[in-house]
Amino acid sequence: MSNGDYPVELEAPDISPYQKGNIGVEYVVTFDSKTSGPHVMVSAVVHGNELCGAIVLDFLLRNDVRPVNGKLTLGFMNVAAYQSFDPADPGASRFVDEDFNRLWSHQVLESDRDSAELKRAREVRTIIDQVDYLLDVHSMQHPTVPLLLCGPRVKGQRLARAVGAPMHIVADAGHSAGTRMRDYGAFVDESSHKNSLLIECGQHWSAASADVAKDVVLRFLGSLEVLDPKFIDQHLEHAPPPMQHIIQVTGPVTIESNHFQFVDDFRGMEIIPKAGTIIATDGEKAILTPYDNCVLIMPSRRLRKGESAVRFGYVAE
Ligand SMILES: [Zn+2]
Repeated sequence: MSNGDYPVELEAPDISPYQKGNIGVEYVVTFDSKTSGPHVMVSAVVHGNELCGAIVLDFLLRNDVRPVNGKLTLGFMNVAAYQSFDPADPGASRFVDEDFNRLWSHQVLESDRDSAELKRAREVRTIIDQVDYLLDVHSMQHPTVPLLLCGPRVKGQRLARAVGAPMHIVADAGHSAGTRMRDYGAFVDESSHKNSLLIECGQHWSAASADVAKDVVLRFLGSLEVLDPKFIDQHLEHAPPPMQHIIQVTGPVTIESNHFQFVDDFRGMEIIPKAGTIIATDGEKAILTPYDNCVLIMPSRRLRKGESAVRFGYVAE
């Protein structure tokens, strides 16, 4: 599963100074402004090989940021995987035992199953249960434009538009292989005020992905009035896009055989003009685009049975 053909332009920051944390969970800190306001969290390294989130949390922590309203939590999630990151084999450290971002249902978290990732998820769950707004920072296998994943609810779309960047918002319900942290509990309950976003910043190790992470995290914290606007203005380097649009995902293509192959070297965000165009074969089965102008979202190189190979979407608004 190595993705060694993309250069590693980023350096994984040493996060060991943050091990102790301040709330009894390692690598998680909460700062309390002691004034009213939401509890806002930014999380990084849910996947251990995705460096941009660690870089932006390290940036915020080195700048001693404190919330001006409510509470701010900064957390490094799959630390064990992250600490195994090796620039010589950069794809190898996505997880230790299993994908941390497929465990976020009560059924799985409260099962008697165990793994390095489940242990960590159960630890950090105590804090995830408390936050009102979560931004989970990720990156992608291929160098494509950044995508803000707002989940299946309208409230996610509203929050994505309030953040104001990047241009592409993806409305989606996740993967068959399990529930993502951004889709945990009240985050997908339309009647709850709790809300979450997942930002896919760019290619895992590209310098640009760290710039996007910083930009979107600052805009997120700004939109929720957590940080001093002067700090945000000082560190924002890019103008917001002229407009955002929503790509509605209609479902993942879940791999059913041990022989899944794309017919082309898709990288993501290709628009396939005609419905019924073959984009892959899964064993004997042809995978066809379901409608005209179908957008291919995050085609994977991890083509294993039960996982998502790609997601289909259309530009909704
Ligand atoms: Zn990820």
